Amino acid sequence: MSEQTENPLRQLPSVDRLLNDMGAGDLLTSYGHEAVRDALRVALDAARQWIRQGGNAPGVDELLAAAGSLLRVRQTPSLRPVINATGVILHTNLGRAPLCESAQQAMLAVAAGYSTLEYELEAGERGKRESHIESLITAITGAEAATVVNNNAAAVLLILTALAQHREVVISRGQLVEIGGGFRIPDVLAQSGARLVEVGTTNRTRLDDFAQAIGPQTALLMRAHASNFKQIGFVEQPTLRELASLAHGRGLHLIEDLGSGALLDTAAYGLEHEPMPQESVRAGIDLVAFSGDKLLGGPQAGIIAGRGELVERLKRHPLARAVRIDKLNLAALVATLDHYRRGDAVEHVPVWQMIALHPEAIRARAESWAMQIGGDVTTSESTIGGGSLPGETLPTFVLALDVPRPDEFAAQLRRQANPVIARIVHRRVLLDPRTVLPGQDNALLQSVSAALSEASH
Ligand SMILES: *Cc1c(COP(=O)(O)O)cnc(C)c1O
Repeated sequence: MSEQTENPLRQLPSVDRLLNDMGAGDLLTSYGHEAVRDALRVALDAARQWIRQGGNAPGVDELLAAAGSLLRVRQTPSLRPVINATGVILHTNLGRAPLCESAQQAMLAVAAGYSTLEYELEAGERGKRESHIESLITAITGAEAATVVNNNAAAVLLILTALAQHREVVISRGQLVEIGGGFRIPDVLAQSGARLVEVGTTNRTRLDDFAQAIGPQTALLMRAHASNFKQIGFVEQPTLRELASLAHGRGLHLIEDLGSGALLDTAAYGLEHEPMPQESVRAGIDLVAFSGDKLLGGPQAGIIAGRGELVERLKRHPLARAVRIDKLNLAALVATLDHYRRGDAVEHVPVWQMIALHPEAIRARAESWAMQIGGDVTTSESTIGGGSLPGETLPTFVLALDVPRPDEFAAQLRRQANPVIARIVHRRVLLDPRTVLPGQDNALLQSVSAALSEASH
């Protein structure tokens, strides 16, 4: 740097000079005149501040580089793919369930053009969007009828609004739960206009507590799956079958918010048994509601299965229109459910592929990562997440990286072009292959190597 004699602010080029500079050519082709002009202004403002604080005037190349990185950041959408190396299979913040191949294709086909969303090809007239999915759900769950809405929160709200507004809903105190993301059973009940009647105690509710609470204003008995927490010890709840026969004996209906909607038995994979919609239907439930994007492994959706006459009332209620499912999610849900109907969900639905992965296969993948980028392969635990099966884990192998500042390194990983989300345990950065999709290995290794070389500088 030479000695500056004149005011260094005067050494800064004008926006126009920068725009006409040869070096701006690439930026102009990529981002257009307006965006580049604006970015150059921001870069010059920053340079002026820097100079006023005693810094040296940056050169033309530096100014163009600053504008270029600003344009890159501005152009990157904030909603974009990441690599989930946390080992949490249903990571709600990372979008819950990744979709199976056929669901992706079905979405694309419907997105790209017109479709039979509400159209009967045979008759050439208006059809119903539920027609594409109802028979699939009834075939899988054994229910008489079914419908689908935007998500499970909407499903529960619709059921309570359509069947219990201005009337009473009896529910056990132990099930007045908060699921996360602000979904609290008592709040949803209040929103629907139904009145909550709590029975039993936090840990124990008996069938007789329900029986005593039934009165002329009672519309429904309700069950909610505690999803994201576990009660152990001195606990008691009546079975679904007992509740159903109590409800039906008194001319009432029993409804259930089941949460996850596991259509396969989690116990077959070394996990605790997660209640299944099919079991609720067999036990005599009148309506059961569950999520499309938790253990079902499909898109965001709320599925309601149960008695025909009640499902009809839901479909006709004005709120149904406000919470209806969109065509893309409907297409993806049909394609996902089709794997369950055919009996090959474990082979095709990513959530179940991940649950069913053999630890040795995971170890082999972690070892191949270690060969390429270093680190140790050690045992660890993957979890289900998404408010399902709390405390339950799957044995796994992870690549463990020892770095001087694990938090900073994890942040570096998140800053890569292919952001990687890792887990830190005992000051080591862990990468769990279970939740890294097949085909993401190279991108993951690239991001990790880049972060490692940045960390060593
Ligand atoms: C997750 C969950 C919900 C909310 O489902 P969304 O599909 O996320 O709307 C409601 N009830 C229970 C019991 C849940 O576990």
